Amino acid sequence: MLSCKDVSAIVASGELQQASTWRRINITFHLMMCQTCRHFVDQVRDIRQASRRLVDDEKAPGLSKEAKQRITEQLQKPTSNHGE
Ligand SMILES: [Zn+2]
Repeated sequence: MLSCKDVSAIVASGELQQASTWRRINITFHLMMCQTCRHFVDQVRDIRQASRRLVDDEKAPGLSKEAKQRITEQLQKPTSNHGE
């Protein structure tokens, strides 16, 4: 059984899509039982969607091409080096 810390680390790092089937099943079961982690997943998804809108040309014409590139890279990069 995964802990809340495990689930939040996987979700925050963006590694959920790359996780093994068994791990995703474990995460799904955890999310079914844990409202705290469900809220966390929702928040991460909202932040990612808001960030993607920022790099959308039509909705954010003020951002430079370089800034959009940096944001896109940060969104795609796994954040495994965040402090514990
Ligand atoms: Zn949890």
